[in-house]
Amino acid sequence: MDIQNLQNQLKWLPAGWLAKIEKYLYRLPGVKAKIEAEYDGIMAGMEESVKPYSHDFQSYTQIPETGLDRSEIIHQLEDLKDKEAPRWQEGFVSGAVYHGDQSFVDFLNQVYAIHSQANPLHTDIWPSSTKFEAEIVAMTARMLGAAETKDEICGTVNSGGTESILLAIKTYRDRARQQKGIKHPEMIAPVSAHTAFDKAAQYFGIKLNRTPLGPDFRADVSAVRRAINRNTIAIIGSAPSFPHGAIDPIEELSTIARQHGIGFHTDACLGGFVLPWAHKLGYPVPSFDFCLPGVTSMSADTHKYGFAAKGTSVVLYRGLELRRFQYFTASDWPGGLYFSPTLAGSRPGGLSAVCWAAMISMGQAGYMDATKRLLETAAAIKVGIAEIPEVYLLGDPLWVLAFGSDTLNIFQVMDHMISKNWSLNPLQKPNAVHIALTLRHTQPGVAEKFVQDLREAVTYVREHPQEKGGSAPVYGMAATLPLRGVVREMLRRFADLLYKV
Ligand SMILES: *Cc1c(COP(=O)(O)O)cnc(C)c1O
Repeated sequence: MDIQNLQNQLKWLPAGWLAKIEKYLYRLPGVKAKIEAEYDGIMAGMEESVKPYSHDFQSYTQIPETGLDRSEIIHQLEDLKDKEAPRWQEGFVSGAVYHGDQSFVDFLNQVYAIHSQANPLHTDIWPSSTKFEAEIVAMTARMLGAAETKDEICGTVNSGGTESILLAIKTYRDRARQQKGIKHPEMIAPVSAHTAFDKAAQYFGIKLNRTPLGPDFRADVSAVRRAINRNTIAIIGSAPSFPHGAIDPIEELSTIARQHGIGFHTDACLGGFVLPWAHKLGYPVPSFDFCLPGVTSMSADTHKYGFAAKGTSVVLYRGLELRRFQYFTASDWPGGLYFSPTLAGSRPGGLSAVCWAAMISMGQAGYMDATKRLLETAAAIKVGIAEIPEVYLLGDPLWVLAFGSDTLNIFQVMDHMISKNWSLNPLQKPNAVHIALTLRHTQPGVAEKFVQDLREAVTYVREHPQEKGGSAPVYGMAATLPLRGVVREMLRRFADLLYKV
């Protein structure tokens, strides 16, 4: 018996039942041992690709007795970078590195070097960090509709999109507790909203009600309306969503939230630094930001299309009062009067400097030009995908392009793309693959190569549908396995594997 077999035996059970009986199943004699063996087998198969350096590079399991020569360390680091950089530099990777032009990266590195010791926690020592962060927030707010409302739009700089989302949800939870006495908070997010909202729900004890999408992969507005109850603290929409690049009907959703006196968060982690410029360029961009009175918070990732280095994002709020629910304060600690605005205590001031420098160096004209190149590249790839009969685009996205197939195993297509050096994102429910286009893909020839390779991959899979191996069986199984606990445990084992030296 293997996991696949077990699945076949359990297929007839309703999904809700399965979740309930799953934990009892593992207590059956033999089942646990067999599933354990299955995990071990899958992880052993992955070890080589996850730990490619175990042969050629020294591993450290304790601090070396005496420090190594700095030039030797730099040499090793250069070696590792040289193995990894070409793939993203040449534009084979979905998302991940959003700008990446060498001269721009060099500039950001120079900025980091100048401010690498700064910590915004120490407002007295580094008021420069405070200046950078206040201005990053102000510039982002202005870009996202702050000038089109009387309310003050404020926010904070955080470590990334996930932290922006965690903070916004914590803020709504604490406000609802204080102002409405809500003890069992719930929130509503379309199934396509980023899983950081699941993380927020887990961390902060909030029930997350996931609502379905319409056939266009945008949130189903009436399903959201029906999901509202007395405990709802916030409704979420994406602009656009990570899986399908679809922009939810933010105007309708935020209006419903406003009518019920509930917070509304637009997750513009992905689109915050693209959609305003796409709109100015004349692309069809529905309203999604603070120009809508029902939008009470937003997240926008400076470390994605803001082109800053990894490690910054902005969360924004309508009104200073709402932001105050985010802050942590301690008045009685022997360590002194303490406050921190975000999850972290000490923070990397160098990254705030880099973010600030990225924004003022790009300028509005730079972002506009980047968006133009991005969307023109996307248009070319969309045409290419439309010309391949076996695959279709999910919805009508601008630059995050998800494609699926009714006739081929799309994960086998992805595997073939991997063999051609591509790194794409596998999606599930429905099974599909996406590429989030970045400036790396706007380099000459990249879009053409993507379409050509995709065409070849599709042809190959059509002619070899039975081929075994690769990641397709794992993704195929993970997408359909009724035992979701087994899938989650597999992810935990994978995390364990990453930390193995
Ligand atoms: C990337 C992303 C996030 C999470 O951001 P991280 O920076 O990876 O933590 C959240 N929402 C959307 C729509 C995203 O694309």
